[in-house]
Amino acid sequence: MACVTYSYTAPVSQTLFDRAAVVTPGGVNSPVRAFGAVGGTPRFMVSGTGPYLTDADGREYVDLVCSWGPMILGHAHPAVLDAARQALARGTSFGTPGEGEVALAEEIVARVEPVEQVRLVSSGTEATMSAIRLARGFTGRAKVVKFAGCYHGHVDALLAAAGSGVATFGLPDTPGVTGAQAGDTIVLPYNDLEAVRAAFAANPGEISCVITEASPGNMGVVPPLPGFNQGLADLCRDNGALYISDEVMTGFRVSKAGWYGLDGVQPDLMTFGKVMGGGFPAAAFGGRADVMAALAPAGPVYQAGTLSGNPVATAAGVAQLRLLDDAAYATVDAVSTELRGLVTEALGKEGVAHRVQTAGNMFSVFFTDEDVTDYAGAKAQQAYRYTPFFHAMLARGVYLPPSAFESWFVSTAHDRAAVERIAAALPAAARAAAEATPEAPAS
Ligand SMILES: *Cc1c(COP(=O)(O)O)cnc(C)c1O
Repeated sequence: MACVTYSYTAPVSQTLFDRAAVVTPGGVNSPVRAFGAVGGTPRFMVSGTGPYLTDADGREYVDLVCSWGPMILGHAHPAVLDAARQALARGTSFGTPGEGEVALAEEIVARVEPVEQVRLVSSGTEATMSAIRLARGFTGRAKVVKFAGCYHGHVDALLAAAGSGVATFGLPDTPGVTGAQAGDTIVLPYNDLEAVRAAFAANPGEISCVITEASPGNMGVVPPLPGFNQGLADLCRDNGALYISDEVMTGFRVSKAGWYGLDGVQPDLMTFGKVMGGGFPAAAFGGRADVMAALAPAGPVYQAGTLSGNPVATAAGVAQLRLLDDAAYATVDAVSTELRGLVTEALGKEGVAHRVQTAGNMFSVFFTDEDVTDYAGAKAQQAYRYTPFFHAMLARGVYLPPSAFESWFVSTAHDRAAVERIAAALPAAARAAAEATPEAPAS
């Protein structure tokens, strides 16, 4: 077998993609969805149930993207649908306070001990953008430290050396972000405490905050080395800056209290999204009460949102969080452990150099024979092996992230049948990865 063959095409998806490209830039509303990194026709999905997605051509896939994390109970979970349906019947938006947003805020505060107060927003991007504004307003300082390969949404000041789609497309910088917007951003290598110490020394009294993914999942999964997060918290405290832990991806996914529940390092502010919305647009930022008190209308730092705390989104979010008990996380962790074993076994049999890196139940595969601890290491992997690997899985009914720089996600709904389909697809995908050459990507 010299090259990857696709066992089927997707004519209806292709027709939809052609239609979309006329009215939407690149045919998609979020770049990685376009399959740019892996080629081929992006699958337009029409429905999801449990661990499965069905595309417009009627093909069913085991979903290992889970909407990039939110669908931790699987698709169309009956209890989440019921909660949303009941809220829907009462009306969809009032532009006033409502009980649903109080319930969701209480649920978050109860689960994540460093969060004394929380403000609801509609996307993770809004959460990090607002947290940074709050940190600047609270400290009266301008500069922000972020890490290469960490993605915090498409906030202007945070797009420098970002992960996710920025990593997928290898964009060095994003046109449209001006020098003034990015000029106060200091980008440092991930897992490098010395670099953070040096940045504080070189910018005395100027750094408002250090923002980091609690455990990065947007350059592939690259967990913090032991002591890194605590070191950040200590350096921030010693230098009068705030430590912002971005848990938009890890929050309520890797444990009841997110990554905080695993490492116990106390941030000043935290950001959430993805899982907390139950598949609807809901996100949040929160933390120390004295810092949050600087937010309008309690304090002077402005922040607002027409659909913030939306009743349907908060109802779905509360329903989802209430189902996420210890047993649910044990189930997701067990599925993750089993899949990691299967991937390692398949790639090992074919002699493909790889690392399966893990953060709680999140994991991703790097085609390299060295541990990946930062963005440079992530980019050094043999990403060309991912393309045929991805397509071999897709052709066998397994939907992986269409990029080598993203986490894989599982859910409580990934049952025996779903795992068996993945296990059956892996040997051929591993073979395709083994046979890949940098010169001959799949067409
Ligand atoms: C997804 C993500 C964001 C952005 O959230 P959106 O809802 O896509 O705006 C921010 N930070 C992290 C760590 C994320 O994974």
